[in-house]
Amino acid sequence: MYLKEIKAHGFKSFAEKIEIDLSNGINGIVGPNGSGKSNIVDAIRWVLGEQSVKSLRGEGAMTDVIFSGSKSRGASNSASVTLVFDNSDKYLPVEYTEVSIKRKVYKDGVNEYFLNGEKCRLKDIQDILLDSGIAKESFNIISQGKIEEILSNKPSERRIIFEEAAGVLKYKRRKEEALRKLEKTHDNIARADDIIKELEIQVKPLKEQKEKALKYIDLTDELKKIEVALITDDITQISEKLEQNKEIMNKLNNELVSLSTMNSTNEAQITSYKLQISKLEETYNIKQKEYIEKTTKVEKINSQKEILLERKKYEVEDTKLHEEILRLKEEELRYKKDLSSIEFDIKEKIKIEQQIDDDLQKFTTAMNQKKKEKQKLEQILTETIRKENKLKLEINTLKESIETNQTLPLSVKSVLDNIRLKNIHTTLGKLLEVEEKYTKAITTALGASSNYVVVEDEQAAKEAISFLKQNQNGRVTFLPLTTIQPRFIDQKTIDFLHQFPSFIAIASSLVQYHPKYKNVVESQLGNTIIVDTIDNATILSQKINYRYRIITLDGELINVGGSITGGITKTINPFQLKYTLESYLKENLKQLNEIKVLEEQINEMDYQWKALEDEYYLKNKEKIEINEYIHQRLSSKEEMMNRLERITSSIEGNNHLLNHSLSKEEEAILNSYYQALEEKEHILHEIEKIKQEKYTIQEQLEEYEHQVREKNSLYNSKSKELKNLEIENNRYDVKLDMLLVTLNETYTLTYEKAKNEYFLTMDKEDARNKVNILKRDIREIGPVNLNAPEEYAKVSTRYEFLISQKEDLIKAENVLLDIIHEMDEVMKTEFLSSFEQIRKKFNETFQELFKGGSADLKLSDPSNILETGIEIIASPPGKKLTTISLLSGGEKTFTAISLLFAILKSREVPFCIFDEVEAALDEANVNSFGEYLVKLKEKTQFILITHKKKTMEYVDVLYGITMQESGVSKLVSVRLEDLK
Ligand code: ATP
Repeated sequence: MYLKEIKAHGFKSFAEKIEIDLSNGINGIVGPNGSGKSNIVDAIRWVLGEQSVKSLRGEGAMTDVIFSGSKSRGASNSASVTLVFDNSDKYLPVEYTEVSIKRKVYKDGVNEYFLNGEKCRLKDIQDILLDSGIAKESFNIISQGKIEEILSNKPSERRIIFEEAAGVLKYKRRKEEALRKLEKTHDNIARADDIIKELEIQVKPLKEQKEKALKYIDLTDELKKIEVALITDDITQISEKLEQNKEIMNKLNNELVSLSTMNSTNEAQITSYKLQISKLEETYNIKQKEYIEKTTKVEKINSQKEILLERKKYEVEDTKLHEEILRLKEEELRYKKDLSSIEFDIKEKIKIEQQIDDDLQKFTTAMNQKKKEKQKLEQILTETIRKENKLKLEINTLKESIETNQTLPLSVKSVLDNIRLKNIHTTLGKLLEVEEKYTKAITTALGASSNYVVVEDEQAAKEAISFLKQNQNGRVTFLPLTTIQPRFIDQKTIDFLHQFPSFIAIASSLVQYHPKYKNVVESQLGNTIIVDTIDNATILSQKINYRYRIITLDGELINVGGSITGGITKTINPFQLKYTLESYLKENLKQLNEIKVLEEQINEMDYQWKALEDEYYLKNKEKIEINEYIHQRLSSKEEMMNRLERITSSIEGNNHLLNHSLSKEEEAILNSYYQALEEKEHILHEIEKIKQEKYTIQEQLEEYEHQVREKNSLYNSKSKELKNLEIENNRYDVKLDMLLVTLNETYTLTYEKAKNEYFLTMDKEDARNKVNILKRDIREIGPVNLNAPEEYAKVSTRYEFLISQKEDLIKAENVLLDIIHEMDEVMKTEFLSSFEQIRKKFNETFQELFKGGSADLKLSDPSNILETGIEIIASPPGKKLTTISLLSGGEKTFTAISLLFAILKSREVPFCIFDEVEAALDEANVNSFGEYLVKLKEKTQFILITHKKKTMEYVDVLYGITMQESGVSKLVSVRLEDLK
């Protein structure tokens, strides 16, 4: 490769376009001072990307390189320089055989680069030239007066030429790039670290808060499950207790009313008895008075009688006879009186006897009545017992049929009955509770799936199927809880259905079941709609485009697609069996109650009959006694009458005596005396009767009073019981209210919803303890941030992202460090090997050029190859090895040229441009220089700017630069022959 052409336009003194075609060998550029030769070097450097205006000999901006105008010519608007390389040997790593590089700058400072006419970046140009040994700072471009700098530079500044020669600049640049990236990575790591630290401050407490919140949520969930179930259970129990208490209270109230009514009646009776007693007492007092009066009267008559009889005794002749007659008369009168008294008594007793007969009759009628009633009740009882026995039998059969799964297909039954099969729940039908009015619809909706067997998991189903196969027991469908998927009706359709009053519900919401079966139930009933009648079902089905099954309350079915199924099913309705059993059990309970009531009634009849019988017996006994008494009295009467007769006949036998013996006075007083005596006895009798009557009433009164006392105490105890129940119910009401409020306010649940969804799975006491423990645990957690899990997730995601980003950055950092290390190693090796080569060549070249002497290169810091400077040691022939600074100007230049040539020998470059490098050399040395160029020109193109004729002798092509028109450089042809 070589530089084929240099074109410049508007660059510095090249106001006019200039094109310099260069030769492959040694090119010489000559011309007077200030004609613009050095501007060519500047032009080359500029194209290669020089950014320093100063090194282009400018002062201010890069626009300084634009032709600034001259006396005869205005300033240019832009400056452009193009270098055209011959790349037929593909030295540059591009396809083209010719590569042109162009730079252009405008007055406004805009810079443009072109590669083969295409706009590009400076970097693209640098990349192409990177390994070529062509660079703005490279050793192959030596500006005017710069040759000595190679020697006068510090050892560390000199290093750059060696690096270029060693070809490590590209590594250095890569290393720099890697270092830049490394710094950037460091910055990024630091930034990530800052954020990580900041997040760490948040993450730790948030994690704690999250864990606290999760624990709180777990505990409150568990608490909810147990407490709601417990509350629901308590509410159910309290409600039942309240109902029971209310029933008891009603009964007690009725009893109290009847007790109070009874007591009122009794007290009225007591009052009436008391009135009767006081009346009797009044009569008794009157009679007593009468009796006293009669007694006084009898005594008065008696004394009158005694006086009269005493007086008469002296009036009669025969005193003895008179006394006899008197005695007989008095005896007759006394007997008559006694007889009258007996008759009165008999009459009274007969009256009582008749009363007793009436009472006995009444008792007999009442007893017969009771007997009849009892018989009737006994008949009903026998019939009820017979019916109860029959129903019990039916209940047992039904129960057995349900319990032993007799209504199920044999295959299903064989699975359920096999105790070896594990994790088998039961049939779907048996897991569901359904209100009676929905049984037909749900039976239709379930169809065969009513007998599908719910199992824990697929494994359980597989084991059951293998059992069925082995025993050839038929087929069964299983529903594994772990895999079964629910089916739904889309929300839009549900919202639509709700507009129609005929829509009842989705089938799955009409059944009750344990929540763990939710998926299974939804899988069979979740996509079935229940509607009231077939007519409405048809309308709705059409409206939803026959997309879902619709079933009526009567069990008619409109299938997906629109086909209709109806009629009477012969399959057993599993829910109906349950309901029949339930109704039988209810009926049985009623019967048992009836039997109890009947037995109680019969017992009561017996008791009443017995009481009547007792009373009958007592009355009868009384009657017998009275009867006996009457008989006694009758015989007394007879005896009395006999006596009277005897007396009467005695008296009659003595009549003649009598007629003379007793005066009318005597007769009258005797009669009135016995008359009065009889009356007195009569009163006494009446008094006795009153006493008896009062005694009887008194007894009854006491009995009633006793009863009233008893009933009163019963009333008091019952009303106390009622009061206690009222207090208990008040307590229950308050508790119930509290439980419902807790359910509603703490858990936003209604009792019905809670009852359907929450179940107590442990002993109640254990549950209560567990609730207390959970509440204590929740209290111990303290205040909770429920947003913490979400916040933690956000922050920790970011935190983890940053951590992983940091890890990536650290990895990248390590990769970069590896790259840097690798670069360093490569650079060290390359640099050292190149240095050694140049060192050797330097001594050779030096001796060749100086015709003797010696030269050497030394690393100023061999321990730091990457940064070490390079020291030059040169001893021209015959001179002692001394410091460079002591060499003459020419010697310095020549040493520097030796070094340049040594480098050129060890590292080939396509071209070199030397601006008056040999200016300080004497003719002999210029010759040596020229000869050396000729040696090297095979491999390297030289462009020499020179004033020395001697140098010109060695060039192949010569160009002249003039400045005829003042201020503008021009290229003129120079003929070599003319020079020679
Ligand atoms: P010497 O033999 O003395 O080294 P030379 O031929 O190398 O001279 P240069 O240094 O290349 O001369 O040219 C310098 C000339 O270029 C000066 O006359 C200077 O005025 C002119 N020049 C430099 N920059 C500009 C510019 N931007 N516009 C116009 N002329 C410029």
